[in-house]
Amino acid sequence: MTRAELQALVRTIPDFPKPGILFRDITTLLIDGRGFAAAVDALVMRARPHEVTLVAAIEARGFLFGAAVARALGVGVLPVRKAGKLPGPRVGIDYALEYGTDRLEIHEGAVRPGDRALLLDDLIATGGTALATTRLLREAGAEVPAALFAIDLPDLGGADLLRAEGVAVDSLMV
Ligand code: AMP
Repeated sequence: MTRAELQALVRTIPDFPKPGILFRDITTLLIDGRGFAAAVDALVMRARPHEVTLVAAIEARGFLFGAAVARALGVGVLPVRKAGKLPGPRVGIDYALEYGTDRLEIHEGAVRPGDRALLLDDLIATGGTALATTRLLREAGAEVPAALFAIDLPDLGGADLLRAEGVAVDSLMV
């Protein structure tokens, strides 16, 4: 499947969740068996050279790609969750949004010393979410050599921010 074919499976919905936002909806890609397989295969191919020991998948759409990629690589998947969802003792990080702040959490001890975590999400925009996750994983003791996204919105500069932190960034669509 070509990049253009993959891109055609992503639906754009204007003014969601608020006016002025062009929401890139991947559910239309997910329900297409060939499209989903092609997206996962392409992510796996990009992930392999980084020899990661763990896939860190960001809630919620990152879970869908993250689990599939981790299975293909033969490594575990770590759900990086929004505040208050994890049952056990947890460590977290607060990060700034356009208005207010948000918080991401992982379980204490979920990352082992020497882990090499691949960060995975559906989309990178400003990079705030991915940067906070990178810091959280590093504070927990993991290396974060690479981050993969189905979609990069380069005008918002998130991928460059992440690269400046020493993370290799790649995506399937721009
Ligand atoms: P950011 O922290 O600005 O890089 O935003 C990334 C997070 O917000 C990801 O988890 C995306 O799922 C979501 N997101 C941001 N902008 C969009 C968009 N235009 N379409 C779909 N999801 C988006």
